[in-house]
Amino acid sequence: MKEEEHHMAERIGFIGVGIMGRPMVRNLVKAGYPVTIFDVVPAAIEALTNEGVPAAASSKEIAESSDVVITMLPEDPHVEAAILGESGVFAGGRAGQLVIDMSTISPVVSRKIAEEGKKRRIHVLDAPVSGGDAGAIAGTLSIMVGGDAADFEAAKPIFKAVGKTITHCGPHGAGQVVKACNQIVVALTIEAVSEALVLGSKAGVDPEIILQVLGGGLAGNKVMEVRGPNFLNHDFAPGFKIKLHRKDLGIILATAREYGVALPVTALVNEMFTTLVTEGRADQDHSALLTHIEKLSAHVIGTPSED
Ligand code: NAD
Repeated sequence: MKEEEHHMAERIGFIGVGIMGRPMVRNLVKAGYPVTIFDVVPAAIEALTNEGVPAAASSKEIAESSDVVITMLPEDPHVEAAILGESGVFAGGRAGQLVIDMSTISPVVSRKIAEEGKKRRIHVLDAPVSGGDAGAIAGTLSIMVGGDAADFEAAKPIFKAVGKTITHCGPHGAGQVVKACNQIVVALTIEAVSEALVLGSKAGVDPEIILQVLGGGLAGNKVMEVRGPNFLNHDFAPGFKIKLHRKDLGIILATAREYGVALPVTALVNEMFTTLVTEGRADQDHSALLTHIEKLSAHVIGTPSED
């Protein structure tokens, strides 16, 4: 047994078992934690109950039967409903309990939840992740954490079951701030890779060769490495949904406004994501941004150029 697996078997309640939550639960179970799950979508729950993971009937019930509660939900309102709502976590929680929100939400909402928790002597951490569905499946997520150092230490064995790079970034909300920074770089990198592929391909070079060569130099990046096949094959099954990345850009631009920070290119890419949502691509992978850049030049990568 690996050293990190020597832990008290705290009972974990996990709320939100979608693309990310589902594989994270599997890794927690693998590490020896007793896990109970809840989701508002029955099909999401069944995927895990079929594997023997027990389910509760509400977020409140999850809190009543767990030592540590983890949430992995889409956006601000879902997290607020699941934690602060009438049948939410705090309604069933107790003093001393630890609640870890691993969703990507606004730092403002993270701080509000921590404040509400403090009133009930419930400990709260914001712990958003990067690494995508592949990182969630492999248990190699990067986890960026905001909150008290003692709570971070207490949660570390749990983080180690689902992630690899685990960093305490500062007080409540700091994890979300770092995640916002991360999402700027990912969005702008997808846009840059798309521009490179459309130029190279329309000018007559095989896109696969472009990715190969760029990968060996300063231009090399994780987006190209992990999403390369998605770009090349126009395979836009999520992955990370466009509507969720657009949600993140909204958080980023609101935070930037609050602090008087100008993010000119992030704002531009945000508009591109809006176009993609309007086109009906909300549930496609964010690599589908390529289709927007292709349209601007009337060229689909990997096809012969018109001229
Ligand atoms: P998802 O839509 O696949 O899953 C979210 C789940 O939450 C769904 O099953 C949904 O039914 C459930 N849910 C919604 N409201 C609920 C409620 N009130 N109570 C209980 N369950 C509820 O989304 P995902 O891709 O797993 O992403 C989850 C979070 O992680 C998002 O904030 C996202 O930005 C972030 N994230 C995603 C990725 C990725 O690659 N998919 C990577 C890093 C971070």
